[in-house]
Amino acid sequence: MISRYLSDDLSRPRCLGLQFNDLAALVAGVKSVVYTSAGSAEDMRRLDELCAGLKLKKLVLEERRDISGARISDLLIGPRPADLRRAGKAYSDIMSLEWGEALGYPECCVKAYLGWKKKKDRLPRIKDLIFHILGSSPEGELFPFWMNNVPNYYSRLGLRSDRLNFVRFSELNSGVDRETVIPWHPCSYRCPGTMEKGRKIYEVLERYMPATAAFRKAFLSRPIVFSGKFSYVALDGECRRETGGFRVVHGGPAGPRAPGAGRLLRVLSAPGELKASGRGALYAAPGVRLPAGTRLLPFSAGAGG
Ligand SMILES: [Zn+2]
Repeated sequence: MISRYLSDDLSRPRCLGLQFNDLAALVAGVKSVVYTSAGSAEDMRRLDELCAGLKLKKLVLEERRDISGARISDLLIGPRPADLRRAGKAYSDIMSLEWGEALGYPECCVKAYLGWKKKKDRLPRIKDLIFHILGSSPEGELFPFWMNNVPNYYSRLGLRSDRLNFVRFSELNSGVDRETVIPWHPCSYRCPGTMEKGRKIYEVLERYMPATAAFRKAFLSRPIVFSGKFSYVALDGECRRETGGFRVVHGGPAGPRAPGAGRLLRVLSAPGELKASGRGALYAAPGVRLPAGTRLLPFSAGAGG
């Protein structure tokens, strides 16, 4: 039955608000509740059909209109009514530990996100969440591909310019599956709780949608040279550990593509080799200037096994 809803036929009609990774997390038992939305009567009908097919319950939290005036229903789905009710209560404060935990996120990751968010509310121009996570990650270790949240902009957009950049990001990557494996933001790229949960979600994706899972693995395994939320370059290559840090041999830029990557692309447009410290600080070739604070995110297909 699950294969009706998780399959490589991505054009199959479905509730567009429900992400595959969330549904896979339910199937894997990583989540007991998924927070989603239905943007049309058709979406709601598809969702009801899915709930009937998979024996899931639905709890509507709120009906609202989006900026274009379209009706949207925010809702929860999950197998157990008690879990839905508990999550429904926690929804009154979505910046709470209870809400994050009701959605199945590890406590350490919820706390880390809330800590960053509180700082950001005071200082809107604070560095992007990715830097915050990188700062809490161990030095000199590769990051499993399923921990990659760079193309996941949920809960990371705050500045007015972010909206426009996000539209440009969506245009640049249109037609590409850019959903991540984990549907939340980890506290560290080697967080044991999220590494375990992410692996289970990936196993479900691989079982039911092998081509999609393989694409995501390749897409999210690329080492990323990161200087900001919308300015980074994912490299078609592999990152290896070596004494004192990392070495990347690459064939040039690949997706996901970022709208503000111009300066980095001028340096990274040709195949080559990069070196970085265990903290990800890049050693630029003589005469090459990278934006201050640029870091290597050493995602890899081979890490965390
Ligand atoms: Zn964590």
